[in-house]
Amino acid sequence: MEICSFCGGVIERGTGKTVVLKDGSILHFCSNKCEKNYLKLKRNPIKVKWTLKYKQFKGKKVTEATPKVVKEKNEKPKATGE
Ligand SMILES: [Zn+2]
Repeated sequence: MEICSFCGGVIERGTGKTVVLKDGSILHFCSNKCEKNYLKLKRNPIKVKWTLKYKQFKGKKVTEATPKVVKEKNEKPKATGE
């Protein structure tokens, strides 16, 4: 299991994206959001509140890093009362 280079979350097997920079360093991203924040917007993960790195830096209790659960999109709406 890889760990996201930006948010610090666990990347589920078969998902995510790996980027190799010109200097040879390898970065793993769990989502497009993380990739854009790191490469394009050049944000520091410690200063972005939704990352696990921010929570760890602030000394907050972090529960186990779990991979994102993908919900099924085609859920049928529940039938309401007759
Ligand atoms: Zn991430």
